[in-house]
Amino acid sequence: MSAFQRASREYKQEGTNIQIGKVTVGGGNKLIIAGPCAVENSEIMHRLVPALKDMGVHVIRGGAFKPRTSPYSFQGLGEEGLRILKETGQSVGLPVVTELMDVRDAELVYEYTDMIQIGSRNMQNFTLLREVGKMDKPVMLKRGLSATIEEWLLAAEYILAEGNHQVILCERGIRTFESYTRNTLDVVAVAVAKNLSHLPVIVDPSHATGRRELVIPAAKAAMAIGADGVMVEVHPNPAEALSDGQQSLTIEEFSLLIKEISKMAQL
Ligand code: PEP
Ligand code: MN
Repeated sequence: MSAFQRASREYKQEGTNIQIGKVTVGGGNKLIIAGPCAVENSEIMHRLVPALKDMGVHVIRGGAFKPRTSPYSFQGLGEEGLRILKETGQSVGLPVVTELMDVRDAELVYEYTDMIQIGSRNMQNFTLLREVGKMDKPVMLKRGLSATIEEWLLAAEYILAEGNHQVILCERGIRTFESYTRNTLDVVAVAVAKNLSHLPVIVDPSHATGRRELVIPAAKAAMAIGADGVMVEVHPNPAEALSDGQQSLTIEEFSLLIKEISKMAQL
């Protein structure tokens, strides 16, 4: 028996499908999540979100509570960001995902989002995991910056053990000695997690590489190894982005990503 139980393939052999709004991930349905690193204002969202919808994006992302390395960096708009995210998602009929950083904001974030993101830095915030484990909305659990695959699956176990079975795992790169890229995309972890667990596994090629020019190749690698989808940062004007501009794709670059991965799907 694995250290983790409910998350394991022994516990449940067939892959788990998860519903976010009207979209299903798992069972061969590939999930495309896209949007800015952070919700910056309503105008940017209204420029970006309809374009993403037209390209076939399933879920809109955007941070309102941002886990920034420096306390002096843009921290997100908080509730105003949540409001803008929900409103723009609704304007095109798409579900949204945003990060919950603190148990004290759980009810607030729950009100505004269709899926709750647990960020890398909070992967082992067990109080927070238990809290989202009590919710009836899907949770996207990002792998910790220095977490082993087993620790990641045990973090998922915390959520499942509380009764929430809707967990999507997200590989987002890990810390290694390599400094050319922001993180090192552990692409094989996708296959490992899918072998060990029935939960869907997606990849975030944006935080995994930290470099715009590597996002498309990394997304293709993710799809090739069997990821159930990708989450990509897109900004209408990355040079002006308040966070993660260097890894954000323009709308045009993102449309190229979509073309490249749909070509792969046809192969
Ligand atoms: C994010 O996706 O907004 C984010 C902060 O990513 P991570 O937690 O993987 O660093
Ligand atoms: Mn980001």
